Amino acid sequence: MRKVYLDHSATTPVRPEVLEAMLPYLKENFGNPSSIHSFGREAKKALEEARERVAGLIGARPEEITFTSGGTEADNLAIIGTAYANADKGRHIITSSIEHHAALDSAQFLLRHGFKVTFLPVTPEGLVRVEDVAAAITDETILISIMHVNNEVGTIQPIKEIGRLAREKGIIFHTDAVQSVGKIPVNVDDLGVDLLTASSHKIYGPKGVGCLYIRKGTRIQPQLHGGGQERKRRPGTENLPGIVGFGKAAELAGKELEEEAARLARLRDKLIDGVLERIPEVQLNGHRTLRVPHNANFSFRYVEGESILLSLDMHGIAASSGSACTSGSLDPSHVLLAMGIPHEVAHGSVRMTLGKDNTEEDIDYVLEVLPGIIERLRAMSPLYQRRASN
Ligand SMILES: *Cc1c(COP(=O)(O)O)cnc(C)c1O
Repeated sequence: MRKVYLDHSATTPVRPEVLEAMLPYLKENFGNPSSIHSFGREAKKALEEARERVAGLIGARPEEITFTSGGTEADNLAIIGTAYANADKGRHIITSSIEHHAALDSAQFLLRHGFKVTFLPVTPEGLVRVEDVAAAITDETILISIMHVNNEVGTIQPIKEIGRLAREKGIIFHTDAVQSVGKIPVNVDDLGVDLLTASSHKIYGPKGVGCLYIRKGTRIQPQLHGGGQERKRRPGTENLPGIVGFGKAAELAGKELEEEAARLARLRDKLIDGVLERIPEVQLNGHRTLRVPHNANFSFRYVEGESILLSLDMHGIAASSGSACTSGSLDPSHVLLAMGIPHEVAHGSVRMTLGKDNTEEDIDYVLEVLPGIIERLRAMSPLYQRRASN
């Protein structure tokens, strides 16, 4: 059976070049970067080279990159670390209602620990309004955290405009850029961010490694205590094979970005147009144009997203409903609900996220099998029967 992986926002495979780059650091180059002997020096060199590569992808200076165990840890460090380091100036934080749970739950944690948090609403297309951010700012505001690209619906937020506002008011600005780094151009100065989260396994690197960009001069309180690694911001012996892999993945993503983004946008548009043409009573979720090249998210009326996923899986197609982190729970996505999509419609949602190995033929195959799946599920759906007999 044909296998089509359309869940690249959940994770991506490690590219062969990345694995190749990592292997020596799992074998002969096993040294600890903090050791002074030749083994340690070799490791240290690889660590700093990876740092340069990751910094290069986002227009940062190497010393502004702090490696972490992934996007989740970087979001926690950015939000909780900033809050505690700057609590003397104020205890108010602004974020959005459509953040990834790593950011959302960090903000919830602060809410339970004496901070005030504003969770901004979004438009029906999933966009944060800059004027809402401006209106939420008080004398107490110390941090604004708004994601660059939403992981479920792929909308690209007006980060540059929010960055300008934050700079004007002297407020620290964090963006979770896990879904934009390596997919669309990301430059920390252009965006005007002080803190930026990235993750390796979303760009064909290994899992369990990511980074937080920390602009020089930004106050942040470490969340782990121990050795002096990562300029004391994130102690613990470095995950060197992972970091080297992340560095290689970042380098390749930067080189291929322009061409790959254009290719994926063509495939995405073919998928979106094909689904909307072939299937009745379906909507595209998220903005049609302010959207990353790799994301399509649909709601099919009168059917359950989970049933669609199971049927797709039987045809070798891997997609997801909402984000991987909330699948398994029966609650509809907090992102779709925040966009004002009714519960029953949100329940019929499927996210398809494209990647490097997807081809034109993959999209043809999806467009061939999906209409039949929806038709069959609707034929069994009491909701659809009731609607049809009305
Ligand atoms: C995947 C993801 C994360 C979490 O990153 P991990 O490296 O898996 O911890 C955070 N934010 C967004 C937007 C993501 O898509």
